[in-house]
Amino acid sequence: MRKPLIGVTGERFASGYSPLPNQDVHGLLRTYVEALIGAGALPVIIPLGLAEDDRRALAARLDGLLLPGGGDIDPALYGEDPHPKLADDVDPLRDALEIALIRDAADTGLPLLAVCRGVQVLNVALGGTLIQDIPSQLPDALRHSFSLRDAPRENLAHEVQISEGSRLAAILGTPIARVNSRHHQAARDVAPGLEVVARAPDGVIEGIELPGHPYFVGVQWHPENLQAIPEMKRLFVSFVEAATGRGA
Ligand code: MN
Repeated sequence: MRKPLIGVTGERFASGYSPLPNQDVHGLLRTYVEALIGAGALPVIIPLGLAEDDRRALAARLDGLLLPGGGDIDPALYGEDPHPKLADDVDPLRDALEIALIRDAADTGLPLLAVCRGVQVLNVALGGTLIQDIPSQLPDALRHSFSLRDAPRENLAHEVQISEGSRLAAILGTPIARVNSRHHQAARDVAPGLEVVARAPDGVIEGIELPGHPYFVGVQWHPENLQAIPEMKRLFVSFVEAATGRGA
């Protein structure tokens, strides 16, 4: 069977590779690439800064779109001033590219899986807002912002409750999952048309879907780091299956 082509938005950073230090890189973390390959897909990078025509031309060749984790989203995009705890990693090019891709995917039925920042940006793209900093704006919340210095990437930080009848519940096959957690932001007001399908015990939004779309699922955790857990592998496999069906 033809393997589906999955576009993953890249991020910009300076290389730490010693023979070529401080080169500008359009990168993808290996974990996303390997989870997609492991689920039977062909991943390709969507570079930042594409002209609109080129972005549409590239998206038209894709069978699915993966929105990976990353930095904070410019709060101006949901009508707010920056909170003092907003990170300094806002990338306007990435915000603009992902918002355009998400709006098109919502309209065209292109299968979409969003991870961490991805679920936040899809909410903003369709008209929602974010909590800019959970520890300061929601002081009674659980700890969600484990860094990779604090804990391994597969560290299961908290539970999530999955909504009965949701696509996510059907994929995971369980009403409660234990997940990793490396975010200091989360969706606050959910965009019109979107549905919250997973929450942490403190109420923080951990999963969002677009009902009626062939496959439009966002999770706040990092399933790409949890591929040894069958439920989390199924999340990638189900996405790749939806993308495979697209060309059929
Ligand atoms: Mn969390």
